[in-house]
Amino acid sequence: MRRKRILFVDLDYFYAQVEEVINPSLRGKPVAVCVFSGRNEDSGAVATSNYEARKLGIKAGIPIATAKRLSNDVILLPMRKDLYKGISDKIMGYLSTLGTTEVASIDEAYVDLGEITLEEAFKLAKEVKERIFKDHGLKVSIGVASNKVFAKVACEMGKPDGLVVLDDEKEEKLRSEIEVSKIPGIGPVLREKLNELGVNKLGDMKNLDEYKLRKVIGEAKAQYLISLANGTYDEPVKVRQRKHQGRYVTLKRNTRDPNEIKPYLFRAVDEAFAKASGALPMEIHVVAIMEDIDIVSRSRTFKHPISKDEAYNTCYKLLLDILIEDKRQVRRIGATLGKLKKVDGSLDKFFDFKLDGNSV
Ligand SMILES: [Mg+2]
Repeated sequence: MRRKRILFVDLDYFYAQVEEVINPSLRGKPVAVCVFSGRNEDSGAVATSNYEARKLGIKAGIPIATAKRLSNDVILLPMRKDLYKGISDKIMGYLSTLGTTEVASIDEAYVDLGEITLEEAFKLAKEVKERIFKDHGLKVSIGVASNKVFAKVACEMGKPDGLVVLDDEKEEKLRSEIEVSKIPGIGPVLREKLNELGVNKLGDMKNLDEYKLRKVIGEAKAQYLISLANGTYDEPVKVRQRKHQGRYVTLKRNTRDPNEIKPYLFRAVDEAFAKASGALPMEIHVVAIMEDIDIVSRSRTFKHPISKDEAYNTCYKLLLDILIEDKRQVRRIGATLGKLKKVDGSLDKFFDFKLDGNSV
């Protein structure tokens, strides 16, 4: 039977897998890609680890010092975000040739496959896996279902290197039997509330007073779960555009000296502009993380997109504002570009357009 099907792709242990592809001698060994904050040898956290490292308890988010304590053998590599982003962009570009693609993160995307049969969906999903492996040497997990949430759940079921296509019968079963804790978007706090209401599985919702549910978990989440349970959930796959882009840099030492902070701030601005890939901001935020990890920020909004030079000046002024009002030392500094606008052609063209009223 033809029906709307959505494919969800997750690049398995992405950053660490890329490192394995580049350096195959890493295979079979525990590997963790880390964000080193640059303070001292051990400050920072694990961003992604391969399955060998996960077996040792070395998972995303744990401090580097803890990873070292858990294993003497774990190979800790610095994160090479630009490298991973380049590969991710190519894969996302390929996926978007198959249908509307929603890039959910650097290693996850939804693709709307349109109205197709189960067999066609299976064949397509297999092709996607083979193609990404052939072009990039990367293994991925794929889930296909009639909606985004179940596609993601299906993908999760097959990890790693998985391929799970749900038919109507299996989806029907999920609607009654999936545990609410396994549903994307349901965190521990919400799960606790649902459990207190007697809801452990999605199917338990049937016996629940909707009014009570809305009151306890809020309108949006209640609607989300009700539609999933009764099979009406139909959130479309939509192309996402990044509206803001930010970068943070850790200073070599805590300081309040603006001249000492300036090069770090400008580096954050450079990196944020690079990540915005040509789009220009109409809003600038400077974010300072203080010596006690408290966060202070100042921002400015413009009526038009601004150039990088203007951004440098604005950021420096905002930094001075922060230092005047706050007497603590700065540990980390960041810049966020908001209200990003794609400017047609080069910056010069944009300003010419502003000046004489027609594009050159
Ligand atoms: Mg992943």
